[in-house]
Amino acid sequence: MIEISAALELIARHVRPLAAESIPLERAVGRVLAAAIASEVDSPPHDKSLMDGFAVRAADTATTGVDLEVIETVLAGQIARKTLRPGTACRVMTGAPIPPGADAVVMLEQTTVMTQSAEEARVRVDVAVGPGKHIMRRGESMRAGEIVLPAGTVIRPYHLGVLAEVGAATVRVTQRPSVAILATGDELVAVEQRPGPAQIRNSNGPLLAAQARRIASDVRDLGIARDDYQSLRERIAVGLESDLLILTGGVSAGLADLVPRVLLDCGVRQVFHKVSIKPGKPIWFGIVDRGSASTQKLIFGLPGNPVSTLVCFEVFVVGACQVLAGQPSPVRSHSYGILLRDHAVRGDRPTYWPVRLIWQTSGQTGVEPLPWRGSSDLRCLADADALAFFPSRETPYSVGEIVPLLTLAEY
Ligand code: AMP
Ligand code: MG
Repeated sequence: MIEISAALELIARHVRPLAAESIPLERAVGRVLAAAIASEVDSPPHDKSLMDGFAVRAADTATTGVDLEVIETVLAGQIARKTLRPGTACRVMTGAPIPPGADAVVMLEQTTVMTQSAEEARVRVDVAVGPGKHIMRRGESMRAGEIVLPAGTVIRPYHLGVLAEVGAATVRVTQRPSVAILATGDELVAVEQRPGPAQIRNSNGPLLAAQARRIASDVRDLGIARDDYQSLRERIAVGLESDLLILTGGVSAGLADLVPRVLLDCGVRQVFHKVSIKPGKPIWFGIVDRGSASTQKLIFGLPGNPVSTLVCFEVFVVGACQVLAGQPSPVRSHSYGILLRDHAVRGDRPTYWPVRLIWQTSGQTGVEPLPWRGSSDLRCLADADALAFFPSRETPYSVGEIVPLLTLAEY
């Protein structure tokens, strides 16, 4: 049995990133940049006004109440035709280029427009402004050639705005794996069926298919294999057509737990079996590697208990997909919360425990451990917002302690 961190290191060492592909900007959310994005423009493209008001020479405003001649009006998208000389101002709107000769902007609210006709306008400036006031300089946000998003960035909706700003109409991202899912167990029936004596429904299949859709290019649900050598072998052969095959059940020490043996017979090399994690200890991971990224296959045998399946997916399968997407090593994205009740975990394995999150007026995230009956108690997850991580230790965890949280995906 190995530690969680050792298992993730083995994943990082054995998994090779998938190739890159180009996709249109609007489909890029959730994908991982395969190459850095550099700006092709200075932003802003010119010195620009950050206010509606008047562009002035700062020196002219040293005496408050100075009266200036308004020589021009420039809106966003227009270009000034005149140069500001001492004693003059230019009416500018937010986003407008600063006219030559001006070095500051006075907000409209800090001026008094004296006369206003088609031919003549004068403005009184009621404050003194220093050079640069309310002006954003050309290239202040980014310069042409500057890297704005490094390779490996997971693209979020607001990144699309940045990508659009720099003209990235298509982006290079790493491909996503094709995923196959196979439940195993003589006791399982499909969700549409009524379970007979000693039967249960296959809850892991739909759970995993939904999880996998977040990270996969396509998902094949191969249904249920029986706990016999031939049934497993046939379905696994189909599953190995995908980049990533996820099995559930049949990896523990029971008489019917044939999955590791069949995988080995199918040419899969074992990388690890059994991790010190609760739930999820019997997890099995292997690989078929014939030397190129396109022929690499990853195979996870997840324990059959549904909460074990969920936890192992979030920690190990998501980790492997991060490496497939080009990250150097898996990163478990944890947030943190504050315990609202004392909590003890039994046993000697680090534990992911279902919790409810309750917003605190202090701004902290309150963590309330749920009454959970262990790895087969999926019902408890219906009330959970997250899994709290408790490293194994002898003393109980007390109210007020800060604990890491593995938040569960919302869609
Ligand atoms: P196993 O890992 O095959 O020993 O299964 C452990 C427990 O999980 C057993 O109680 C199984 O009945 C249950 N189980 C296995 N596969 C599934 C599944 N696909 N859906 C729901 N429960 C399952
Ligand atoms: Mg089984």
